[in-house]
Amino acid sequence: MAKRPVMTRADIFAPDFTTDPYWWREARPRDLPERPLPARADVAIVGAGGTGLAVALPLARAGRSVVILEAALPGEGASTRSGGNVSRTLKATFPELVHHHGEERAVDYYREAGLAIEHLSRLIEEEGIECGYRRQGRYYAAHNPRAYETLESSSETLRRRVGYEVEMIPRAAQREHIGSDRYHGLQLVKGPAILHGATFYAGMLDRTLAAGAEIHARTRVTGIRREGDGFEVETSRGGLRAAEVVVATNAETGADNPLFSWLRRRILPIRAFVCATEAVDAERMARIIPGGRTVITTHKIVYHIQPSPDRRHLLFGGRAGRNHASVPAVAAALHGHFAERFPDFRDLRIAHAWEGHFAYTFDALPRFGQRDGVHFILGDCGTGIPLFAWLGHKTALRILGRMEEARTALDDLPCPTMVGYTGNPWFVPAAVRWYALRDALPF
Ligand SMILES: Cc1cc2nc3c(=O)[nH]c(=O)nc-3n(C[C@H](O)[C@H](O)[C@H](O)COP(=O)(O)OP(=O)(O)OC[C@H]3O[C@@H](n4cnc5c(N)ncnc54)[C@H](O)[C@@H]3O)c2cc1C
Repeated sequence: MAKRPVMTRADIFAPDFTTDPYWWREARPRDLPERPLPARADVAIVGAGGTGLAVALPLARAGRSVVILEAALPGEGASTRSGGNVSRTLKATFPELVHHHGEERAVDYYREAGLAIEHLSRLIEEEGIECGYRRQGRYYAAHNPRAYETLESSSETLRRRVGYEVEMIPRAAQREHIGSDRYHGLQLVKGPAILHGATFYAGMLDRTLAAGAEIHARTRVTGIRREGDGFEVETSRGGLRAAEVVVATNAETGADNPLFSWLRRRILPIRAFVCATEAVDAERMARIIPGGRTVITTHKIVYHIQPSPDRRHLLFGGRAGRNHASVPAVAAALHGHFAERFPDFRDLRIAHAWEGHFAYTFDALPRFGQRDGVHFILGDCGTGIPLFAWLGHKTALRILGRMEEARTALDDLPCPTMVGYTGNPWFVPAAVRWYALRDALPF
C-alpha cells in the first residue's frame, strides 16, 4: 500500500490561515453608531451576547424600554465564536446527573434542555432567521468500551422518560456513519441541531434593534446600585436609572463591583477552541462523516467534529481549558487528534482556528436567578446557544410578571463556590491534564 505523505506542522495551515472565527466570513461583529445614554429605562441589560438579546427581544416587543450595555462590540464575546452545535442535553451527562441528584431530577433537567431546543427551533422559524439551522442529529462516539456501555445503559431511560429518539450503533456498524474505526461504537441521538454561529447572532441583533431596544457598544458597566425601587447603573459613558437590571456577561463577568465579584466567584471561565478546514469536496465529506451529523466524543475533555451548515468545511474542536498554548499550537494538536482517527481527514488544512471563553459552574449546571434584586444568567458550560436563549426568554417572562410561564426545572438553584476562589481558575489546566490522562485509559 502506498504510504501517505506525512504533513509537517507548517503544511497543516492553509496559506490564508487566520485566527478569526470561520463564522465571521459571513457576519463579523459590527459596531453601532454612538448615541447618548438615556436617563432611564425599564430594563438595563449588561452584555449584548446572545443571552442579552434573548432577554431583550420579548421585553422590547412587550413595550418595555430596554437598554443593552455592551463593553465591546455586540456579539464579539462567545456568541459568534461557538462551535454552532445545538444540544438537547446539558453539559453534565445523564448518568452523572442521576448519580448526583437522583433519576427524577435528572429527568427534569434533561426535559428542560429538550424544551430549550424546541424554543430555539420555534424562534428561528418564527423570526425567519437564515442561519443554516438543521436538526441533523448527533453521534456520541464512545472513546472506550466502558463509555459505550454507559451510553447504552442510559438509552432506555432517555427514550422512555425524556422522549429521546436514540439508537445504539455497535462498533461493527460504525463505518456506515463515521469514517473511523477508532471509536467503540456510537449512540445516535435524533433532534440536536447545528447553526451558523454568526448569522444566527446577526439575525437576533437585527430583530432586537427593530423591536426598539437600544444597544450601546463600547459601554462598560462598572457599578449597579439599588436606589429606592430601582437601580442606578454606572457605565464608562455615564449613568442611567433602570427599574430592572439583568446581568448577561457569562464568562466575561469581571470584578467591576461587588455583585460582579460575587457572580464571578461562582463560575470558571474556560478557554475553548474551534477550527475550520479549507473547503472539502462532497465525496471526501461523505467518507469522513457518511452520516452527515456532528460527532461528539465521550471524553471528559470533549472533542467534536462536524460538517459546517453548508457542508463545505469541517469544523472541529476540543482541548478546552489549555491556558498557555497559542491558538495555532492547539489547532495543530486538534488536527493531529482527528488525523489519527479519521484517515480521510489527514491532509486537510486548517483555514480558521479561534478561541473564546465559556463559563463552567462547580456542578456543570447553568444558573439563572436574582441576587440583591438583579437578574443574572450565567454558567453556560458550553451549551448556551439553546439553553441561554431559553433562560433569557424565561427571565424576560419573570420581568413581565408572568411567573407561572417562567418556571423551569433550573429555577433558583443554590450557587456554590469554593473556599478561597476569587474568579481566577488557576487550577483548571491541572484538572484538564488529569482528565486527559483518565480519558486516555483504554477502559
Ligand atoms: C469556543 C467556544 C465554542 C462554543 N461552542 C458552543 C457550541 O457548540 N454550542 C453551544 O451551545 N454553546 C457553545 N459555546 C457557548 C456559547 O457560545 C454561549 O453560551 C452563548 O453564545 C451565550 O453567550 P452569552 O451571551 O451568555 O455570552 P457572550 O456572548 O460572551 O456575551 C457576554 C457579553 O458581555 C459583555 N460584558 C462583559 N462584562 C461587561 C460589562 N461590565 N459591561 C458591559 N458588557 C460586558 C462582553 O463583552 C460580552 O459581549 C461556545 C463558546 C465558545 C467560547
